[in-house]
Amino acid sequence: MNNAISRRRFLEQLGLAVAVAQAPGWARGADAPPAKQLGVALVGLGNYSTRQLGPALRETKFCRLAGVVTGSREKGEQWARDYGFSPKSIYSYDTIARMADDPAIDIAYVVTPNGLHAEHAIAVAKAGKHVIMEKPMCNTVAECDAVLAACKAAKVRHSIGYRLFWDPYHAELRRLAREQEFGAFKQMKGDRGFVMSTWRWRADKKLAGGGPLMDLGIYLIQGACMAKNGAAPAFVTARELPKTRPDISRDTEETLQWTMEWPDGASAEFTTSYQQNFDHFRAEAPKGWIDFKEHAFGYKVGAVETSRGPLQYPAPNQQALQMDDFAQCVETGRATPVPGEMGRRDLAIIEAIYRAAASGRREAVKTT
Ligand code: NAD
Repeated sequence: MNNAISRRRFLEQLGLAVAVAQAPGWARGADAPPAKQLGVALVGLGNYSTRQLGPALRETKFCRLAGVVTGSREKGEQWARDYGFSPKSIYSYDTIARMADDPAIDIAYVVTPNGLHAEHAIAVAKAGKHVIMEKPMCNTVAECDAVLAACKAAKVRHSIGYRLFWDPYHAELRRLAREQEFGAFKQMKGDRGFVMSTWRWRADKKLAGGGPLMDLGIYLIQGACMAKNGAAPAFVTARELPKTRPDISRDTEETLQWTMEWPDGASAEFTTSYQQNFDHFRAEAPKGWIDFKEHAFGYKVGAVETSRGPLQYPAPNQQALQMDDFAQCVETGRATPVPGEMGRRDLAIIEAIYRAAASGRREAVKTT
C-alpha cells in the first residue's frame, strides 16, 4: 500500500488546515503580502536554542527571533548580529521584567534547565509576554500551578514545547487513537535513553528535577497519552535499576522502568535511561498496531510501521511549525493543542511514578 500523503492531507493531519486558510502567503502565492510576524525572545542560549530553535525561527512565517535572555551580553550581541534584531532586546536573567516596555517582543520561550523554568516563565508572564516553556514544564506540579496562576493573572497565553504534535507520524498515532480504526489502543511498550558519559545538569536533582524520566521518559508518557486520546493513566508502578555510573547519576535515577494503567484496561511498559541508547514506541489495539522502530521521538522520526504497512511522510521542521502554530494561537485566540495544563498533567504522572519507585507500590495518578 502506498502511504505517501498529499500536502493537504499532511497539513490536515498536523491540524494546520486552519493556519493555511489564514495564511495569505501560503494560500495566495509568492506575491501575497508577508504574514504578520510576532517577535519571539529565547530565554537561555544553550544547545537547544542554538541548534534547533534559533535556526527554526529562520523558517517560521508567523514569528521571528526578536530578542534573547542570556547570562552573557557578548553572546547576546553575537545573536543580535546573526539574527538581525536590535541589541536593545538583549536581556539578562535579572532584567526580564524590562521586557514589559519592549514592543518588539510578543512571546518569550523558556529554554533553561528544568529547575529554572518556573522562575523564568513567571518573570516573562509578569512582563506581559506570552510564554512557551520547554519540556518538562517544571520540576513539580506545584511549580506548574504557580506558572498557570501567573499566566492567568497576567492574561497571557502559555504552551509547552511538545514539538512532536507537529510530526506527521505522531499526528497519525493521534488520528488512529481518535478514529479507532484499530480499536482502542490497549498495550504500549517503549524506551528512550542515551549514554551520558560525563556529569551534566540533566542528572542534577535541583536543576533537572530528576534523571532521565524528566528528560526522556516524558516523551514515552506523551506518546502513551496521545494513544489514549489525551487521557492520563489512573495508576502507575515503577522500579529503579541499579546504577552503573553513580558518579554521574548521583542524586537521581540512572535507569527507571515503569508501567501505566488506564481505567479501560489499557497498559504501558516503559524504560528510560542515561546509560543506554534506545528510542522506540509501539501501541497495539485489537485490530492493528503502530510501531515506531527508530528515532520514535527524534527531530526526524524514522521507520514507522503499522499493521497495514510502512508509513512514509515528509519530515517537517517540527520546531518551526510548533512556534508558528503558537504565534497563530496568540493572533487568533485559538486554543493551542499543547497548553500548560498538558505540561502539568505530565508532571502529575511523573510525580506518581517517582512515588511508586520510592514506595514499591502501585500509586494513583493525581491530576487534579
Ligand atoms: P543547555 O545546558 O545546553 O542550555 C541551558 C541554558 O540555560 C544555557 O544557555 C545556560 O547558560 C542557561 N542557564 C541559565 N541559568 C543556568 C544555571 N543556573 N545552570 C545551568 N544553565 C543555566 O540545555 P538545553 O539542552 O538547551 O536544554 C534546555 C531546556 O530545553 C531543557 O528544559 C531541556 O529539557 C529542553 N530541551 C528540549 C528539547 C526538545 O526536543 N523539546 C531538546 C533539548 C532540550
